[in-house]
Amino acid sequence: MENVVIIGSGPAGLTAAIYAARAALNPVVLTGDLRGGQVTLTNNIENYPGFPDGVGGFELFERFQKQAERFGARIKLDAATAVDFSKHPFTVTTREGSLETKAVIVATGSSHRKLGVPGETEFTARGVSYCATCDGFFFKDKSIAVIGGGNSALDEGLFLTRFASKVTIIHRRDRLRADPILQKRASKNEKINFLWDTVVTEIQGQTAVNNLRLKNVKTGKDSDFPVEGVFIFVGLFPNTEIFKGQLQLDDKGYIVADARARTNVAGVFAAGEVRDPLYRQTIIAAGTGAMAAIEAEKFIAELEGRAYPGK
Ligand code: NAP
Repeated sequence: MENVVIIGSGPAGLTAAIYAARAALNPVVLTGDLRGGQVTLTNNIENYPGFPDGVGGFELFERFQKQAERFGARIKLDAATAVDFSKHPFTVTTREGSLETKAVIVATGSSHRKLGVPGETEFTARGVSYCATCDGFFFKDKSIAVIGGGNSALDEGLFLTRFASKVTIIHRRDRLRADPILQKRASKNEKINFLWDTVVTEIQGQTAVNNLRLKNVKTGKDSDFPVEGVFIFVGLFPNTEIFKGQLQLDDKGYIVADARARTNVAGVFAAGEVRDPLYRQTIIAAGTGAMAAIEAEKFIAELEGRAYPGK
């Protein structure tokens, strides 16, 4: 019987692991398929306190993991495939077996949304990418397009200017959603230009991408846009598939959790982007991870009739 199983190994899951391990709960962390979560795909994080010169996403993950392991967290390269929260102790089924546990912290994060246009799936990894840090290098001196107008599109678009000869940011409106600091940097960068009020209707190519079919949403005019690569950053969706019917989700699929990280099932807590459609920041994921672990410790202490310090 486990005390606490933490599902997910991003900043939320690993911060929960640090706190749970320090509370002597001997937690298990199931890493999921993307070890370290979305943050590992980020080139540079400039707003995580304690790193005045920024820190690479992967480096931050490695530091979190090292810190969690130092206190005894067990990090397993395994993924949860199903859960049963209908009876206590809970069951978490994984690819490699099944775990019984007193408490669960769900920190499964979110995944990149797809555009859903013809050619997108066909040309994934053949010119279509969702990760500039992973694939930017393959586009040296090439002309590429970035789809989206949020922080990811601008952040990643700026990173891609290190490799590409030209980066065109294609946005469906005439106003960006991204933070002003990124807008300013992008508008100053000579390799970046913008195509406003435009959506991609098809991604075309032979063996790899060579053209985008575009539509101007104001004029209705269709056009061709030759490119060798297209990076898609049109938002995220929560990884909650296995919790459907087990936990209360909102209309967009995010886990509903209260200010103490508690879900509608006593003993199941949620942390990070899987419960946060609003802020989606590493620092907030880490913060809610800490909250979830403290609450899990309280829950287990109560279950076992132990006093919890400060309760
Ligand atoms: P986001 O903020 O949701 O932005 C998604 C962008 O894609 C929006 O501009 C949206 O257009 C556009 N879009 C959505 N669906 C589309 C479609 N079907 N076709 C064309 N365009 C579409 O997502 P994000 O940029 O990935 O950011 C996610 C979160 O991570 C945000 O909270 C962001 O602040 C955070 N983040 C922060 C940083 C940082 O702090 N440096 C870096 C990266 C991400 P509309 O604007 O018209 O809706």
